[in-house]
Amino acid sequence: MARILVVEDEADLQEVLRFNLQQAGHEVLQATSGSDAILLAKRYRPDVVLLDVMLPDILGTEVCRTLRQHEDTRAIPIVMLTAKAEESNRVEGLELGADDYVTKPFSVRELMLRVGAILRRTNNEQSAKDQITFGRLRIDVQAHRVWVDDGLVELSSLEFKLLLDLYERRDRVQSRGRLLDDVWGISADVTTRTVDTHVKRLREKLGPARVYIETVRGVGYRFVGTPEAAGSE
Ligand code: CA
Repeated sequence: MARILVVEDEADLQEVLRFNLQQAGHEVLQATSGSDAILLAKRYRPDVVLLDVMLPDILGTEVCRTLRQHEDTRAIPIVMLTAKAEESNRVEGLELGADDYVTKPFSVRELMLRVGAILRRTNNEQSAKDQITFGRLRIDVQAHRVWVDDGLVELSSLEFKLLLDLYERRDRVQSRGRLLDDVWGISADVTTRTVDTHVKRLREKLGPARVYIETVRGVGYRFVGTPEAAGSE
């Protein structure tokens, strides 16, 4: 089931939500202030955030804005819990990237249906993401397998991680240092030259799909934004 962060300073409502979400099999995290909500969201990466607008410290819309600004929490679906009179906050929340809202007083059943719909949607998006097709390249994220023009490419797990890391941040330059942190881990006893060696080997294995990984001289590497954007070698 899902991990859901409930951000609500009214104790009764918090309790009702916790009870119903747990009954539905979900794991519930609870916050009663905006600053706690941001901390918990960053630390535990919930699948959904239910976010009250009127919080004791900062507005829910502010929480929403902060979560959308951070890479780790950017994609977490947010449902705003708003009072009827808070229409401007509701609109602002949606503009800031909230996925949905309910108006207080709402029926718990309705909210549960909304949460269910959001979870189904993100699950679908996730399984679509598990199969990546990019030009001549195909990646099965779960199975850790890669094909180029339907031919299976044998990659080490490190090369696979490197490819996926580059792909997920495509169209952006990634420094060797960043790749080191992401793929090898901060404590790894390797130098930036190791990155170059592995990218070189990865490219060789990718054959015609090698052109999707570009060298940005003096900085690092970039996975091209679209297959068409790749230059020829
Ligand atoms: Ca409140």
